[in-house]
Amino acid sequence: MKVLVVGGAGYIGSHMSKCLVRNGHQVVVLDDLSTGYRSAVRYGALIEGSIGNPDCLNRVFGEHAFDAVMHFASFIQVGESVREPARYYRNNLANTQNLLDAMREHGAGNFVFSSTAAIFGEPAQVPIDEGVPSAPINPYGRSKWMVEQMLADYEHAYGLQSVCLRYFNAAGADPEGELGERHDPETHLIPLVLQAASGRRPAISVFGTDYDTPDGTCIRDYVHVDDLCAAHLLALQRLWQGGGSGRYNLGNGNGFSVREVIDTARRVTGRDIPLRFEPRRAGDPARLVADSGRARRELGWQPARGDLETIIADAWRWELAYPWR
Ligand code: UDP
Repeated sequence: MKVLVVGGAGYIGSHMSKCLVRNGHQVVVLDDLSTGYRSAVRYGALIEGSIGNPDCLNRVFGEHAFDAVMHFASFIQVGESVREPARYYRNNLANTQNLLDAMREHGAGNFVFSSTAAIFGEPAQVPIDEGVPSAPINPYGRSKWMVEQMLADYEHAYGLQSVCLRYFNAAGADPEGELGERHDPETHLIPLVLQAASGRRPAISVFGTDYDTPDGTCIRDYVHVDDLCAAHLLALQRLWQGGGSGRYNLGNGNGFSVREVIDTARRVTGRDIPLRFEPRRAGDPARLVADSGRARRELGWQPARGDLETIIADAWRWELAYPWR
């Protein structure tokens, strides 16, 4: 099958391109390289262009007949979304609509959308299954939830089939060491902890020690990027087999606190990791843990690299490869 991977030069999109090629599919990456890296496109052909540009989309869909479109190109920083909501609604919402409209105009079907646990805001209960009401508390989460709603409307009116995958905390790196997480600036806990371990940063800041959790730090459900890719592949198979649209929460169902992540990283790396205690970061819910029962039942998803030590060990191999190829 031929798949368009929008945002294939980014963290999850680059791993997905590899996963698709390894599974016998043909990949075209569309990326404007605003946050991604040309060197991360190791699988598939790169078209440098933006979904903000309808002419570019016309050209891409005019030249290729895609069996599916996967959309990884979005801005992902919660704090930035509060300061600059216009950028988030422009890129994550309006540009996504451009993409959907190009698919519609060119008769392309089957859309897999990168959604997020941020659509749940501060959830009333954990673990979070798909029945928990969506109530995002920042523009980032709202932009993703709006796309989910738009997809429901596009399905109803135009028959566009889609799968929305709500990632909890994507982490880890390609076990073969070719690809990994590379954000600039980096804001995510695991890569920052490992940069503190390798000496690229003096310390890791712990944002908040007064949450209502056993050790006072926030609890998250870390899920390996390769396991996320496996879920995407299953989502594609569902769409191609006529299984219909779906919405799935993707995590391991195990919550780890910031302190537990740092302790695990100390064990995995054997390095000292200096801490700096700081106030809470705005917009952080205390606890986000997935109930992925639906993905397991309906997609047959079975995370293979779900334990935190494996996730951190894979990310550590990538950190040790810095500066990356
Ligand atoms: N965090 C932290 N120090 C950092 C970065 C993150 O204490 O330098 C905490 C953050 O407050 C949250 C957790 O680590 O509780 C995971 O944050 P991350 O940004 O990795 O993912 P998010 O949950 O925001 O998607």
